[in-house]
Amino acid sequence: MSSSSARAIDGKALAQRVRADVAERVLKLKSKDITPGLTVVLVGEDAASQVYVRNKALACEQAGMNSDVIRLPAETSQADLLELINKLNHDKTVHGILVQLPLPSHLDEHAVIEAIAATKDVDGFHISNAGLLLTGKPLFRPCTPYGVMKMLEDEGVNLRGAEAVVVGASNIVGKPMALMLQAEGATVTVCNSKTKDLAAHTRRADVLVVAVGRPNMITGDMIKPGAIVIDVGINRLDNGKLAGDVDYESAQAVASAITPVPGGVGPMTIAMLLVNTTEAAERCL
Ligand code: NDP
Repeated sequence: MSSSSARAIDGKALAQRVRADVAERVLKLKSKDITPGLTVVLVGEDAASQVYVRNKALACEQAGMNSDVIRLPAETSQADLLELINKLNHDKTVHGILVQLPLPSHLDEHAVIEAIAATKDVDGFHISNAGLLLTGKPLFRPCTPYGVMKMLEDEGVNLRGAEAVVVGASNIVGKPMALMLQAEGATVTVCNSKTKDLAAHTRRADVLVVAVGRPNMITGDMIKPGAIVIDVGINRLDNGKLAGDVDYESAQAVASAITPVPGGVGPMTIAMLLVNTTEAAERCL
């Protein structure tokens, strides 16, 4: 077995620091009679979504923010959901609105996200927010890639001129991730399911971000020695354990730093949701 060398990037500890900073900002807002408020809308009974929503609400409360979870039955109509969002858009006590995805299949996810006021879209999924990010004037950055950027900053990674490779090109992780890395001066390659020789790309990466959803697909031989490896993937294995998209053991023998799963990117996603909601409230000052 090869000797381990990479430093484990502790997302849990950094998330705690970010959340402590948020709590201080919340105190300042409260002294001005503003309590940041996040409303999460959950449609249906998806088990994973229930856990995510509970964790988000708990994190808000721990930071001194208001949090409200609106649970709707799976058969909720598109019209009723849009009406609720419209009401929340006009509610001054609500600074952030998050509709937990995925939605039941009869609902139009795109239309629902577009119905959220861009100024309250703390997930950063609204096309206005995607466009603002694209043009270098972000209002809300999607929480997961935003959390990754925070980790890279905390690690002191110099992205100027760095080769960054993002594996995965979804609207919520891969694409915004690429834009954020590019904005910091990295030369970015984005790979998807059609990429011909994935390893040829990943082996060039000084910074490798993997967000696919396939357990252990990136192995140590696909990683440049000394690279920073960020594993966004969360996969539930048959034995009930969680695994990332990166094979941790072989990767850590090659990389200089790597995020574990769990305890890496996951906690940062929630921390950045709190940051976005606090920013939304601060804009009301
Ligand atoms: P999606 O399924 O929306 O996107 C997956 C992306 O991976 C697509 O762009 C797809 O390509 C690409 N892909 C699929 N197979 C390959 C392959 N063999 N080689 C290269 N690229 C491939 O997933 P998400 O972006 O929503 O999530 C990705 C992972 O991150 C999941 O495990 C998810 O659970 C996790 N996640 C973790 C979060 C956290 O807080 N840590 C938050 C959000 C997600 P194509 O575009 O061609 O289809």
